[in-house]
Amino acid sequence: MEKLIAQLNALDLKLSSIGFANALISYDALTQAPKKAVNARAQAMEGLSTFYYDAFITPEVKSLLDTLHEHLEELDHATKGKVRVLRDQYESLACIPAQEYAAFHALVAKSSVAWEEAKEKSDFSIFAQLLEQVISSTKKFIDYRGKDIPRYDQMLDDYEKGLTMAKADVFFDELRETIVPLLKRIQEEGMDIQKDFLDMSYDKAGQKAFSEFMMEALGFRMDAGILGESVHPFTINMSRDDVRITTRYQENEMISTIASTIHETGHALYEQNVDEDYGLSCIATGTSMGIHESQSRMFENNFGRSKAFWSQYLPKLKEQFPKQLQNVSLEAFYKAINVVTPSLIRVDADELTYSLHIMIRYEMEKRIMGEDLDVNELPKIWNDLYEAYIGIRPENDGEGILQDVHWSEGLMGYFPSYALGSAYAVQFVNAMSKEVDIDQALEDGDFKPINAWLEKHIHRFGSTKTPEEILLDATGEPFNPKYYSDYLVNKFSSVYGLS
Ligand code: ZN
Repeated sequence: MEKLIAQLNALDLKLSSIGFANALISYDALTQAPKKAVNARAQAMEGLSTFYYDAFITPEVKSLLDTLHEHLEELDHATKGKVRVLRDQYESLACIPAQEYAAFHALVAKSSVAWEEAKEKSDFSIFAQLLEQVISSTKKFIDYRGKDIPRYDQMLDDYEKGLTMAKADVFFDELRETIVPLLKRIQEEGMDIQKDFLDMSYDKAGQKAFSEFMMEALGFRMDAGILGESVHPFTINMSRDDVRITTRYQENEMISTIASTIHETGHALYEQNVDEDYGLSCIATGTSMGIHESQSRMFENNFGRSKAFWSQYLPKLKEQFPKQLQNVSLEAFYKAINVVTPSLIRVDADELTYSLHIMIRYEMEKRIMGEDLDVNELPKIWNDLYEAYIGIRPENDGEGILQDVHWSEGLMGYFPSYALGSAYAVQFVNAMSKEVDIDQALEDGDFKPINAWLEKHIHRFGSTKTPEEILLDATGEPFNPKYYSDYLVNKFSSVYGLS
């Protein structure tokens, strides 16, 4: 058995090294690489994915994983996790012919660049053809698995183990029933909230300084990561000691920058606090997109849009921006950062209407994967859904279908995890509040007890537990969306003075 475990570890290290290189290239591509780099980079990524495939998809690896799986009970927790993660990856990859797999990586590199240009020019036609190729490859790859389940169920399960359309429908129905009437009440009966001081000009240097201050205050290990800049903020990790986040600076939207930085820091803390003993490994990273998003949204919303949090940090923000904020009270600031405004752009959406944006992408993906839609029809379907759910219609593709990078990278089935993450976050906070005085910690700006709880129940396990196991073990019950809908009703009724 020892020999087999040594073989498994050697394989894991080889694959993780290629993953490391890929992540570094992706970070560079999204932040600073010159425009011309795209073709050679696509070739290099194709080459790396061939290395990966050849090292992984062999009869010897299959037999190694199968044998270890038969002796699962004899293995330690970390090794068990590796076997589970690698077997899942093997299964999804083995059925794709090597050449098609490499070509897909090259396609995705090109389509991301086309998306960026299309978004800049607000012109879907620049991106349409490549998107069509990404969609058809994705469908083909799912079909190769030959499983007797709907395509989109398989895709949901890839990002969030155990998630199906049936479960997602129940969750989104609950949200629709909560959010739509609440939004209506706010618009009809809610008090007016002033937020003009947030629309003033805030210089980029000040935003950057406050972002860095915030990361450190929240517990980000500054010698084990960096803050970069990109069009679409993201977190990428090479290892627990090299976790890179980005934000974007907009002069008239200071609070959106700070919220983005706090959000990405939440992701980064998860990665930085994985068990050190896991080293460079497939298990040394967050377990699912939903659990990952729960960590970022918890910091962004449950903490970063609370009164207790800003009782500590508003004075600091005022030191950075005295002119804009000098006469603003804590109460006024708290209400202003929680204003509800139906809008077109997902990343700028308020906490309440955010899930409506996700519902639209969920419904579109369900149709894209289940039907044979003409790619040129997608902008219209998109716009119609915005009008139906949010009550406003995009005027161009840039503020409509082109706003998100995900589809250009072949990430479909990923969006629902954003909404799910918000709901998991509330369930986690509820469990945490039984052991930690959260408001007191926020008022003191002391994230140690909060991060210790998260590390103990979530972070340290990396990918060795499934999302369902994490939720059950950390909160004592399976996923329950009721915590989230109750939280939204309580918070926003109070912000808007509704009884
Ligand atoms: Zn996120």
